[in-house]
Amino acid sequence: MNGYFDHNATTPLHPAAREAWLRASDKHWHNPSSLYRDAGLASQQLESARERLGTLIGAEAERIVFTSGATESNNALFASLPADALVVISAIEHPSVREAARRRNVIELPVNADGVVRADDLKQLITSKHPALVSVMAANNESGALQPWRELASLCRENGVLFHTDAAQWLGKLDASELGECDFITGSAHKFGGSKGCGFLVLPEEDSRLGFIRGGPQEHGRRAGTENYPAIEAMVTALEKISPRSSEVAQTQSKLRDTFIGEMRMRFDSLRVISESAPRLWNTVLMVMPEHDNLKWLTRLSRRGFSISTGSACSSGKEGSSVVVTALGASAEELKRVVRISSGWDTTAADWQALAAAFIEVFEELNRGGRPQ
Ligand code: PMP
Repeated sequence: MNGYFDHNATTPLHPAAREAWLRASDKHWHNPSSLYRDAGLASQQLESARERLGTLIGAEAERIVFTSGATESNNALFASLPADALVVISAIEHPSVREAARRRNVIELPVNADGVVRADDLKQLITSKHPALVSVMAANNESGALQPWRELASLCRENGVLFHTDAAQWLGKLDASELGECDFITGSAHKFGGSKGCGFLVLPEEDSRLGFIRGGPQEHGRRAGTENYPAIEAMVTALEKISPRSSEVAQTQSKLRDTFIGEMRMRFDSLRVISESAPRLWNTVLMVMPEHDNLKWLTRLSRRGFSISTGSACSSGKEGSSVVVTALGASAEELKRVVRISSGWDTTAADWQALAAAFIEVFEELNRGGRPQ
């Protein structure tokens, strides 16, 4: 039984990514910026990884800047805007977008009752406020709700506004081949079987400015620091391995997830599943439990071998309150009952059944006053 249900927080390393990392570290550990032959080979490999990533996400390789992950990518983007730039972000962005955007003039775009941004709301904001940049994530990390990024990107293009999407949760789970239509794209390797501390930011053009991390001329002067070629190779390999499976996985896994929700409903009739009627990631369930604080659920499930989350991760290493459930106007009391479950590419029906059974067992334990039997 695999009790790991926190794939939106991070994923285990894909075996092919591990192999790729080892190969790259053994053979091409040289500094890609150095001038001798072996360094040149490392540099060629790095550029080939950039090309391969570009093919996967539908963006020219020259637009891709490798970074240390989605948090850096999001911060680099907002830092590159003029200090007085007006930016629009959705009310459900990851803290790395919210906090980075706060350094500029920011307007929040509300979401509907399903936790989804409405294109009409954005249209109005663009007409009345003329922002420099709009940032709306592709898929939400808590609820899994898919945002209409294609529609928003073309709306922005028609109006001469730059569009950014944080695709950290979309990549590896759904077809990414059209993401390149967005001016800026954020990605993070550890959300799809790559290693932690590796990601990328796609820019509108090769010569777009980005001076967030200054120093050497790496990444065409857009991001200083020796490139982590082994991690980049592992990231691209992981995405290459899982991308062809995405539609088959989406079909089978969403059925398993929905069966789990059905089982939970049979036991907990007032269970609230957030964004349930919205299109969402095949692996995610964000629920407000009818009773008991989320930490009680989490610790008791953890003792039984299940890893789940109480909402969104925050910078202190603890878990903060759910941004999405807050944006939907929940009470403080409801916020304490939020739990997030996020399965993986190979989660089985038996894993889901075991999780549902564990929820029921924990409920009985909590109703007995928290004493294990
Ligand atoms: N954006 C989103 C949507 C995320 O889910 C996460 C990870 N929780 C991040 C950004 C931050 O990613 P990283 O860990 O690569 O900095």
